[in-house]
Order: sequence, then C-alpha cells, then structure tokens
Amino acid sequence: MKYTKIFCIALAATLAVSCTEKKPQETAATATAETKKDDFNYIADMFADIKVLRYQVPGFDALSLKQKELLYYLYEAALSGRDIFYDQNFKHNLTIRRTLEAALNGYTGDKNAEDWKKLEEYAKRVFFANGIHHHYGNDKFIPACTPAFFATVVKGLDSKTLPLNNGETVDDFVARISPIMFDPKISPKKVDKSPNKDIVQASAVNFYEGVTQKEVETFYAAMEKKDDLEPIWYGLNSKVVKENGKLVEKTWKVGGMYGAAIEKMVFWLEKAVTVAETPVQKATLQKLVDYYKTGDLRKFDEYNMSWVKDTEASVDAVNGFIEVYDDALGKKGSFESVVSFRDMEATKRIAAIASQAQWFEDNSSIMPEHKKKNVVGITAKVITTVVESGASGTSTPIGINLPNADWIRSKYGSKSVNLGNIVDAYSSAAVGGMLEEFCFTPEEAARAKEHGTLAGKLHTDMHEVIGHASGIINPGIGSPKETLKNYASTLEEARADLVALYYITNQKLVDMGVMPTLEVGKAEFDSYIRNGLITQLTRIEPGKDIEEDHMRNRQLVAGWAYEKGKKDNVIEKKVKDGKTYFVINDYEKLRVLFGELLKEIQRIKSEGDFEGGKKLVETYGVKVDQALLKEVLERYKKLGDKPYKGFIQPRLVATKDASGKITDVKVEYPDNFLGQMLEYGKNYSFLPNYN
Ligand code: ZN
Repeated sequence: MKYTKIFCIALAATLAVSCTEKKPQETAATATAETKKDDFNYIADMFADIKVLRYQVPGFDALSLKQKELLYYLYEAALSGRDIFYDQNFKHNLTIRRTLEAALNGYTGDKNAEDWKKLEEYAKRVFFANGIHHHYGNDKFIPACTPAFFATVVKGLDSKTLPLNNGETVDDFVARISPIMFDPKISPKKVDKSPNKDIVQASAVNFYEGVTQKEVETFYAAMEKKDDLEPIWYGLNSKVVKENGKLVEKTWKVGGMYGAAIEKMVFWLEKAVTVAETPVQKATLQKLVDYYKTGDLRKFDEYNMSWVKDTEASVDAVNGFIEVYDDALGKKGSFESVVSFRDMEATKRIAAIASQAQWFEDNSSIMPEHKKKNVVGITAKVITTVVESGASGTSTPIGINLPNADWIRSKYGSKSVNLGNIVDAYSSAAVGGMLEEFCFTPEEAARAKEHGTLAGKLHTDMHEVIGHASGIINPGIGSPKETLKNYASTLEEARADLVALYYITNQKLVDMGVMPTLEVGKAEFDSYIRNGLITQLTRIEPGKDIEEDHMRNRQLVAGWAYEKGKKDNVIEKKVKDGKTYFVINDYEKLRVLFGELLKEIQRIKSEGDFEGGKKLVETYGVKVDQALLKEVLERYKKLGDKPYKGFIQPRLVATKDASGKITDVKVEYPDNFLGQMLEYGKNYSFLPNYN
C-alpha cells in the first residue's frame, strides 16, 4: 500500500435541507477490496483548474447476473438524462457542446497548434462543467483562443454536423453563438445569489425565462398552501415562462419539456422494474416511471416515500430532478443520477452511527425544545458507485442524503449514503506535500496521515446521518427555504458539519467501535480548521470572495470558532517564514465552541431567524482576507495540484444472446476523458437545441 499525503478540498454542491456533500480527502486510502487493482491509474487528465480522475468498482464481478442486469439498465437510464443537465444549466449549452463535438470529431487542421489546444481545453472545461459556466464558482469561462480562430474552425466543418437552426447559414450560426461564448458580459453567472439583485434574472440557468424574481415568487406563493403538512415541492420539475402575459410552467416529463430524454430513461427504468431485487424496489422504480410519465409531483412524493423504504436491496439509484442548489430560489431540481450497490463491509460503520441517532440527538448541545423526540428511520450505507450523470458527474458527491422534502424526512426518514469507492479514488490520486505545507507541526501532519482518512469518513457519515437529520423547526415557522432564503443552504451545511464536529472527539465513538482513538477526532479538528481558514482558499481567485455554500459554511464555522476562542487562545494564528498557520491549542474548548455555534444555528433554523442567519454568514462565511489568499495561492501553486477534481465514468458492457437476453455485464474503465465525452455525445444525445 502506497502512502500519499494530501490536501483537502471541498468539492461542491448542496441544497437547503439535505445535501450532496462533496468533500475531499486529505490522506491515503487503505481500502483493499478484493477486485481492486493496485496498479490502477487514478489520474486521467489535467487542464485549467481541473484534474480528472478514474475510480474502480470493486465487487462488481461478484454480483449476481440479475443484479448486474439491473445495474446496467439503471446505468443506461442515468446516461440517457445527461443532456437535461446541460440544458438546465444554460439554454445555449447543448448548442455549444454540439458545436465543440463537431469540431473535435471533424477538425482536420493542425491539432498541435496553440489555438487548437486552447479550443480543446475550452471543450474539456465545458464537458467537465456540463456547460459554459464553472461547475463550482458559477462564473462563465471564456475560450482562450480568438473568436476568429473559432469561426475558422466552425466554418471548415461539415455543416451537417453543426446544430444549425432551420434555414440558418453557418455564418449566421457563428455570429449567433460566438458572443455567447466569448463576450464576458453575456450571461456571466450560472447562479447569482447576490443580495439586492433580481436573482432570477441575474442567473443564467434555464429554469426561468422572461420573468422576474417577484413574479416567480408571487406565482409559487399562490400555489403553496399555508399549514399544509405534506406540501408539494412546487416548481421542482418545470421551467417557468411567460405566455400571453401569464406565467406558465413547462413541465419536464414524457411528452413535455425534455420529453425525448425522459422517454429514453423511462424505457430503461421499465426494464429495470422487471429485474428489481425486491417487491419494494420494484414498486419504487414503477413509481419513478409513473412520475416521469405524468410530471405529477405528488407521485414524486410517493416515489420518495417508497424509495426510503427500499433498504433491503443491494442495488440502488438516485435518479430525478433532485437538488435545488442550481436555482437561486431553491425550487428547481437539477437532473442527476447515481447508480450503485451496497458495500456490505464498510456499511457496518455508518450503520453503527445511525443506530445511535437518538442518543446523539438527546446529547446534542442544541436547546431541548429543538430536539427531535423520535429520530425516525435514518438509514445509512456505504455504496460502490457504478455511474454518475447530470449534476453528479463529472464532479461528484462523496455523500448523499435524500429525499429533500422535510415532511417526508420527518415522517418516513431518509437515506444517507457514503460513496466509498469515490472517496478511495480521491485518496489514491492525492498529491504529496499538502500536509507538510499547511500543517504547523510534524505532529499535526503525522496525525493527519495516520487518522485523516477515517476522520474524513466519519465526519461525512455523521454530517449526513445525524447532522442533517437532527433538530426540529418550531411550529408554524415554515421551511428554511422560505425563512432563511439564500442563506438556508450554507446554514444547513454548517449545522450538519457542527453535529459531526461536536461528536467526533467524543469517547462514545470509541466505545461504539467506529474509531480506535480520540486522536481521530483531533485529526478532524485540525483538518477542519486548516481547511476552513487556509486550504480551501486554493479554490478562490485573487480578488474574489466565497460564493459556494459548503465553502461559506466551512469558513463560517472555522472563522467563528477562531474569533470566539481568541480570548482563551483556543486557535492561534501563527506566522513563520512568511507562512500563515492556524494551530489548535485547546481541543476541548474548541468542541464547546462548536457546540455553542450548533445551538445558535439550530435556533436560527428553528425560529426562521433570517437576520440572525444572514449576519452569521455575511460576517464569517463570505469575505476573504486577500493578503492571506495571495499567500495561500502561491504556496499551493508550488505543489502542482489542481483545486477541482472529477471523474471519468466506468463503462458497463452487456453481452446478449441471440434472443437479446443479457447473459453477462462487464465493467470497463475508459481512460480518455475527451473520448468518453464524445462517446456520450454520440450515444446519449436525445434533446433538441432549445433556442
Ligand atoms: Zn450536507
């Protein structure tokens, strides 16, 4: 087993209530599944600020043929929805992607020329981000080649390969598409949550068109019934446009918007129904099909209630319009799919935590009136991922907790998963030097090396299983989406992190057998403070502040603890040889501080205290010390890593007999990122260009 020293990053997205936790690992993996190859090459490509990795699917070969068949159908369903996320991100994304595909497939000029290399890098960035805006920072990125070069390339292609509108000439096409790609003023941000802006109009996402924030809010307020104990998540599966002066929804369903892709998904899901592992799973998949066919959000609720109960089967899938993080208003669900099967061995750890959920709730630092009397049905498992698409690919979550509807969660529970093979791939691919560079003492680095991987996994487990699941909202207050608005996600992530932090140095975890020593907890405290105050800054550009919810939450938590602990010197800022470090002097007092902040953020959520939440986030979570940022970026640059990572997906290949019956399914590991993107473009491009 080789040892790598790593860095820790937070990969990306989340939503109001539950989350898709995307977080990185700091130390080397120790997992040794039987089918895992040690000589596997984890790093496939590097460009811009991106490193593309690969992951293995240990245990796949040992599955039954029926399970493999089920995975294969769910895999096809996942990829069939791929176009949807491109279009949701920006209405010109599919056109631009198809133009780039045509260029990559058809360009006959010098592919070593600098301009071509720049265009190719742009294409990779578009594929990685599922569109022309940065997957994490949300800013539009611009091709480094000239518009003139781009025009020459496109005009040299076979026009039949280009996504031209009816009757459009290639010249007109270039004139139309070029400013969208090259003009920084056009649709500059995918999601813009700036206060004092019309966040609907300022965001480039394709969830609304020709309508204002006010109009949308009024439109949905009229649908939402106060005091509804089982509220429908209105707006989750539609685009809002204006027709004849009135707002209408274009629903994403068979026969509706995105129908061509959804029909393909339904085709594969109906096959999946026939090989479901259990009756509950069969019913669950059937409900998903019904929902896609009708677009009826009540059916989506029914699907979720059934999905939560589907805990016996090994194979599982997230598939739908799920996370609302890409909508500034938190209503519209981005398409995603994650197909997986259970990692039996690793599930024991997360299940142990879930089994003690009530103890954790009872012993939490939050006010008694905010505690759940009966923590219901939290199920947790470690999964082996088979494929990810939409909002989960290429940039992937490492933990998922669903469904998102509060009332389903409190009544029926939720499912929490940890993506074990993804986490291991991160660890295996990690670069050396981060710990040496950013830990103040060799002891801190040694602790991270010895305990960091487990610490990270436990943090994720607790964040998902007992973090998001904890606490109650006061009667009549309404959901955090409504009360805390654009601060809801950040505060919710902070709350879940704080539950994990509050307990990770607790002897209870040692007694439960999920960690060998309290040193694991200390390693997590070190890592959290180091990341929240220093290393996550490697993802921020000079002059910018923090936008992304998880990053805001981490700086909020670490920065608040630093500030409040100053009088007791709990966390000390040290500068040595021009390098800044934050060193924890008192782990016990830090735990108490985490508990206090948890209590306060729970109060904010329970009471719907918008002003209190806003103040916390704006004071501690947003602003970046630009001198420190400059220093950190210089230190990081020397290490030769990239701040963002994502994955090439494995490929499932089915063998069929003469009658078309599947006789075997094999997993392959492509190693060329562009190759996979072009393959997907050829095989899974089902939507028209909506412009
Ligand atoms: Zn979360």
